[in-house]
Amino acid sequence: MTDVEGHIKSIKDELPDNVVLVAVSKFHPIEALKAAYDAGQRIFGESRVQELLTKYPQMPKDVEWHFIGHLQTNKVKSLIPMVSLIHSVDTEKLLEVINTEAAKIGKVIDVLLQLHVAKETTKFGFTCDDCIELASSGKLLSFQNIRVRGVMGMATNIDDAQIIRTEFKEIHNIFNTLKEKVFNGKSSFDIVSMGMSDDYHIAIEEGSTMVRIGSVIFGLREY
Ligand SMILES: *Cc1c(COP(=O)(O)O)cnc(C)c1O
Repeated sequence: MTDVEGHIKSIKDELPDNVVLVAVSKFHPIEALKAAYDAGQRIFGESRVQELLTKYPQMPKDVEWHFIGHLQTNKVKSLIPMVSLIHSVDTEKLLEVINTEAAKIGKVIDVLLQLHVAKETTKFGFTCDDCIELASSGKLLSFQNIRVRGVMGMATNIDDAQIIRTEFKEIHNIFNTLKEKVFNGKSSFDIVSMGMSDDYHIAIEEGSTMVRIGSVIFGLREY
């Protein structure tokens, strides 16, 4: 068994049944993805459109591709046919473009709203108020070719478990608020994507339903 297979198996053993594992394979070669596939992994996360498009035809058809990186509107068209979930929707403009392009190919695409809670100014995303505003304008629910499945968030990249925990709590609270106030308890609004290699245990304790793990599975990335 390769290291990748062993890592996948040990993570899967520790994840609760209701938490989905996204194997974040960005910057890793196709052989590594195949090893993960052989270990039973079917969901892969990529953060660059070109890389996903290159890997897509090299993997079996039952792979589910998730897009987790910052998405530029001019890349949406080529991405849409390949992905089953976009985690990183962070502007109203991007929602509009995704809706238009999905409509053109007759697809309803699942997305998550990326939330901004971490202290870093570089992180993209909506605040809770942004989401409520977008929702109350009627816009969020008006996109016929988008199904909003939940939220995605990242904690500050910091060695302080308390701060990380507080930020994950905030993400989960915003999810609950949106679910109640905007989505009226809709059962398809059910994904809280939070937790990466360094913080997924805390994320799960704070209500994550989907973890995005790269380095612990594949080793460190060489950029
Ligand atoms: C790279 C990345 C991950 C995975 O990071 P690791 O620390 O390697 O687990 C998760 N989420 C997003 C949005 C990423 O860009």
